[in-house]
Amino acid sequence: MAYRITDACIACGACAAECPVSAISEGDGKYEIMPDVCVECGACAATCPVGAPTND
Ligand code: SF4
Ligand code: SF4
Repeated sequence: MAYRITDACIACGACAAECPVSAISEGDGKYEIMPDVCVECGACAATCPVGAPTND
């Protein structure tokens, strides 16, 4: 299942810089993941300072 970014996101941009397939972009007040592009590597979750990306 693709990762998604919860409302905990503080829009720091760190995850977008780490995503190997450029699936993450800045959205309305937080960052967003394109589910069809995400390869479920987990780099965003490992990088995020507030634990916003999840694949639950
Ligand atoms: Fe990008 Fe990997 Fe996060 Fe998917 S899990 S959005 S591929 S960093
Ligand atoms: Fe949001 Fe976390 Fe990505 Fe920063 S690293 S933009 S807080 S999801």
